[in-house]
Amino acid sequence: MNNPDYIGRFAPTPSGYLHFGSLVAALASYLDARAVGGRWLVRMEDLDPPREMPGAQAAIMTSLENYGFEWDGELVRQSERHEHYQHVLESLFNQGLAYACTCSRKELETYQGVYPGFCRNLGKPLDNAAIRLRVPELSYHFTDRVQGEFRQHLGREVGDMVIRRRDSLYAYQLAVVIDDAWQGITDVVRGADLLDSTPRQLYLQELLGFAQPRYLHVPLIIQPDGHKLGKSYRSPPLQAEQATAQLLRAMRTLGQATPDDATGSSPGELLKWATQHWDSSLIPRKLTLAEAHLR
Ligand code: GLU
Ligand code: ZN
Repeated sequence: MNNPDYIGRFAPTPSGYLHFGSLVAALASYLDARAVGGRWLVRMEDLDPPREMPGAQAAIMTSLENYGFEWDGELVRQSERHEHYQHVLESLFNQGLAYACTCSRKELETYQGVYPGFCRNLGKPLDNAAIRLRVPELSYHFTDRVQGEFRQHLGREVGDMVIRRRDSLYAYQLAVVIDDAWQGITDVVRGADLLDSTPRQLYLQELLGFAQPRYLHVPLIIQPDGHKLGKSYRSPPLQAEQATAQLLRAMRTLGQATPDDATGSSPGELLKWATQHWDSSLIPRKLTLAEAHLR
């Protein structure tokens, strides 16, 4: 089966190893794509070298292989796509849609993350400045396949957003929109921590004339104490020997059926079974799930 109408992707950030929460997101995007015969791509979101963990990229790819995931085409690395981001950034800047901002963290401290627009009309030069995209005083909304209707007022809740940092690093929001469009992604399946990034991405898509993908945000797996899983909270990296057990656990977390007897199944066999039985309507309609409660 080869369905040209579905292209999905998994887009890990190499700031740490894959953990159970990343597995849940990878599995959902993989099964959602393969269940309809779609393509599934992997993109390494290595935009931030200072926050990258040495060895994480290779470890992530090894985990995906050990867990039986097969991706289409070559791995794409965002670190190799800077010229494309630069091109879009300059065009936004030259059209007056983005501007240079030299405000310090201290100056912005009291505004709770919503930029007050100090540099908006100052016409500062590009160099040595952060670049911010003007956002409209409008609400953007979409219907998520799991989480339902989500809406955000860009002016009031987000403010003019950074698309290139002062240290010249491109922002996730810009790169993700450019790459999803360039790779022809039709379906974004990812963790619910990115739900509130989506309206920003819709605005950028509109501005750049890109098609809007469908969205499915799966519950974010959190620690029992409410913290996100990740390196800083010592969530264990995915172990190869645990592949079948962890895949079963991830399937249950996504509300999916599991085979009566999976002992002795290889990860690949399990993924094949899960693809045939995938039902996205069974995914819990929750933003977070605490890992301790998961069998
Ligand atoms: N790189 C992002 C992350 O690991 C995911 C981006 C996305 O799926 O849009 O959180
Ligand atoms: Zn400023």
